[in-house]
Amino acid sequence: MMIMTGMTKKQIAAAFAAGAVLLLAGIVATSCTREPPPTARHLVLVTIDTLRADRLGVYGNREVATPHMDRLAEEGAMALDATVHAPLTRPSHVSLFTGLLPSEHGIRDNVSPTLDPEITLLTEVLKAAGFQTAAFISSVVLEAQSGLDRGFDLYSDEFEGADGDDTRFLGQFQKRGDVVTSEAFDWLESNGTTERVFAWIHLYDPHDPYEPPEPYATEYADRLYDGEVAWSDELIGRLDTKLEELGLRDDTLLIVTSDHGEGLGDHGETLHGFFIYQSTLAVPLLFRGPGVVPGARLTVTARTVDLFPTVLDLLGMSTPTDIELSGRSLATALRGTDELTETTSYAETLIPLLHFGWSDLRSLREGRWKYIAAPRPELYDLEKDPTEERNLVNTESSKAEALHAELALVLEKDRAASGSAPGLGEVPLDLLEKLGALGYVGGGGTATDSTGADPKDKIEEFRAASRLLREGLSLFREKDMTGSIERFQQLLGLVDSFEVHYYLGRSLLAAKRYQEAAVHFQRALEYQPGYAAAWEALAECHAATGDARGAIAALQEGQSAIPDDAGLRKREARVWRQLKNLQEARRAYEAAVSLAPADALLRVQLGELLRDMGELGESVRFLREAVAIDPETASYWNSLGTVLGGKGDLVEAVKAFREARRLDESNAQYCYNLGLALLRLGRTEEARRLFQTTLQLSPNFEAARIQLAQLAQMGS
Ligand SMILES: [Zn+2]
Repeated sequence: MMIMTGMTKKQIAAAFAAGAVLLLAGIVATSCTREPPPTARHLVLVTIDTLRADRLGVYGNREVATPHMDRLAEEGAMALDATVHAPLTRPSHVSLFTGLLPSEHGIRDNVSPTLDPEITLLTEVLKAAGFQTAAFISSVVLEAQSGLDRGFDLYSDEFEGADGDDTRFLGQFQKRGDVVTSEAFDWLESNGTTERVFAWIHLYDPHDPYEPPEPYATEYADRLYDGEVAWSDELIGRLDTKLEELGLRDDTLLIVTSDHGEGLGDHGETLHGFFIYQSTLAVPLLFRGPGVVPGARLTVTARTVDLFPTVLDLLGMSTPTDIELSGRSLATALRGTDELTETTSYAETLIPLLHFGWSDLRSLREGRWKYIAAPRPELYDLEKDPTEERNLVNTESSKAEALHAELALVLEKDRAASGSAPGLGEVPLDLLEKLGALGYVGGGGTATDSTGADPKDKIEEFRAASRLLREGLSLFREKDMTGSIERFQQLLGLVDSFEVHYYLGRSLLAAKRYQEAAVHFQRALEYQPGYAAAWEALAECHAATGDARGAIAALQEGQSAIPDDAGLRKREARVWRQLKNLQEARRAYEAAVSLAPADALLRVQLGELLRDMGELGESVRFLREAVAIDPETASYWNSLGTVLGGKGDLVEAVKAFREARRLDESNAQYCYNLGLALLRLGRTEEARRLFQTTLQLSPNFEAARIQLAQLAQMGS
């Protein structure tokens, strides 16, 4: 069965003709030989983010130039109908690497905790078999925090401008494809000739914003998305040339696919993630390499979860027996040795539910029939109606009921498994902000079947909200707080969520409107009491208005919500210090220390507090812990030396100052302190030389000058 969005009858006929090649190849392969099929030595997987299948020539498009991918499909095989399980970057890639559905691996959104380490990744299987492995990532959505880095020797997910200041902006969180591929080429060059290699190249260019380089920007000026597709195709061409140059081409299984498509206005959806129509579920899937019959066409639905076992098959390996996958191997069909029977495919989006409290969407497909569970359910005959315009749920009610019943079984398993919906509390703050920059309106809610509004009725609201969030964040980053406050306030009229209150709070805080900011942080915390950064921001609002007690109260409330958070206790200790209540500061620091066993700086801060309280023995204890955790920071050794010196333990003080000086020879203070400790030990000559050095390092170091003068007097 062959179904593609936007294909004409003629194209469908052509695709069927291509399918005949498969049949022929099958006969040849089975009659000539019983030998094991040839297998590939290397694997190169390219996921081109946000690539609709119907944009490729080989899938029937006549308006976008994709000669390289088209050639790949001729030299190798393709799935006429490939589907993902979620129209979202992170969940979809996790399905590819785990062979599991989103409900099974638990990653339902781009904002998510790290993937459960108990779940085996394809990369880990390859690594265990001796492959050299590297990933070249071009979006922050897939950074190592996702958990997809497991098994990779190299996981290149650094983005220019992705950290540090507030000037960062949308487009900076992606790498352009030519940068990513040339990194990958360098790696292949140094690894591919000796070892078995697996390289994963993730290209983000077709994801919005659509900004293709020339000549595509001009050639596709009125449809820049297509320009990005043509540009990505050029990169595939470069990759193929590189494989040839390195002599890897014939030994390599090359797979090109995508994580989801793009709405481009279909059903009112501009981007992806909100609906689960074919515009965002149908992706290209191309294979080329040893064992793959040139011209072979998969006529059954190929699913993302099928890639894990298929890849292992084509590499001559088998799936480890202790791993349970939801996919099946497509290898026999790609080799032309056997045909596959049609199976069902599941897809979901929880975005309307998780971010807006509306209904989630789930679908189950079997061949031409696709059922979508929603408050107003939908059934489509994709063969006759590939763009899903005619809802047949009433006219084909028995078909709808059958698919609904099967889907209900999936949902039942989902409910049983997902007792714990992902909480934002486990997501790093900077990731949340960067993802916000990509246009996701965040919020509370949990993954259960909901009775919320039908997303079909909410698409306009969703688009307006996405636009306001985007504008608000841009203005926030450009430090136009008046503008960002206005956008977030408008956004609140559409959606009341954690993220909107949080960003409005941040904007108001930056505009020094502390009392208003505090109100919104409080509202944000009602949604996500586990979000430490919001408690800290609330405390900052109080502190800024001189209400230190209010700040402490907020931090303590945060601690009862997140008992294992050391940061909130650290912050509390700092406020107590400002209030000069050293006893309370000590209590808070000690609580923080017990929660953060590897935090050296925290121990230095506690040690310095104890020093100021005159508790030198205790102070030394924590400073010693600090330098044991981090022996490479000069200032920690200096702090330790100072307290030891104060205690009169000069021999130990000298040792500590020597360490500080060894780590930072240019620091005049460390040099002087060492001199002073030696002087007290009566080692005047050494001390004199160090005071002289101090003055060379810092000619205005008065204390050293005085010491030298006194030494001169003593000597005369
Ligand atoms: Zn994506």
